[in-house]
Amino acid sequence: MTETFTYDGGAVVPGETANIRYTVSETYLGDPARIPVTIINGERPGPTLFLSAAIHGDELNGIEIVREVAHEWNHDDLAGTLVCLPVLNVPGFIAQERYLPVYDRDLNRSFPGNDSGTSAKRIADRIFSNFIAPCDFGLDFHTSTRGRTNMLHVRADVDDADAARLAYAFGSNVVISSDGPSGTLRREATDAATPTVTVELGEAHRFQRKLIDAALEGVLSVMAELGMRDSAPVKWPGWRTVIDGSDEKTWLRADAGGLVEMYHDRGDIVEAGDRICTITTPFKTESTVVEAPFTGLLVGVLENPLVYPGNPLCHLVALDDPTTRAARASRSETRR
Ligand SMILES: [Zn+2]
Repeated sequence: MTETFTYDGGAVVPGETANIRYTVSETYLGDPARIPVTIINGERPGPTLFLSAAIHGDELNGIEIVREVAHEWNHDDLAGTLVCLPVLNVPGFIAQERYLPVYDRDLNRSFPGNDSGTSAKRIADRIFSNFIAPCDFGLDFHTSTRGRTNMLHVRADVDDADAARLAYAFGSNVVISSDGPSGTLRREATDAATPTVTVELGEAHRFQRKLIDAALEGVLSVMAELGMRDSAPVKWPGWRTVIDGSDEKTWLRADAGGLVEMYHDRGDIVEAGDRICTITTPFKTESTVVEAPFTGLLVGVLENPLVYPGNPLCHLVALDDPTTRAARASRSETRR
């Protein structure tokens, strides 16, 4: 049986697509602060999947992913419902800032929200109760924080069978498993029976076409896994590593302030002892060499070359020998 999607203020019947500007707060002028929402309710029965982006206002890759799924894909044969939320943090997006501009609140620590709480919690509540909790599954798109870049990977609590199903179906080489900090959309939705995973790709403030295309393949693969589209197969990425709390992984941090010359890109494999980067200053000739403490994969690396002591340089995760060999054999995938 097909189902009508209902939210506070409206309903979308099977076979209908609705483009909504949904009020989540008000500006100082008393005008509505609204988020764009596209709901595509298929004519055939199936699960309800949300796709969300820009919960951090300067993370743009996901906006383009959700926009293309909502407005450029043909959904004539859709089974179930897609809830497309391309820009969750509209005030941050307009200001091109990561956080909600007032008091720098992190919308992604404010879920599931509270309708009589702070302004961030009220926004979170409007989003969560209307467009997240009614869904069966969710994908939330992020990029690295400004000044760094991530290879395409999924973050999910693989101890939750449904979250694991989404994470594997997305078809990325790397899955980092944790239940996530409290207040994040991923964790709170998963705890509230809407299993959700985070997809990380690239850097803030730009569109990165190859990463966006790879993520669109992942969305298609998830929809195939959930039976929402007939045409596409579930994607196998060639090799996969699932990194959990017991695995060796580290953010390598600068021990000196200065200018970083980075010798590797996201997705590179480095051997123990390999030179990852050097830190110099404009005033002296000697430099600090940073070496890989173990053999592993660079999931994230610095883009902005300026560091204080303690700033992150790269996110290195250990790989076992068979995975390292498989990864080396398919470098093109990780280099996207
Ligand atoms: Zn983010």
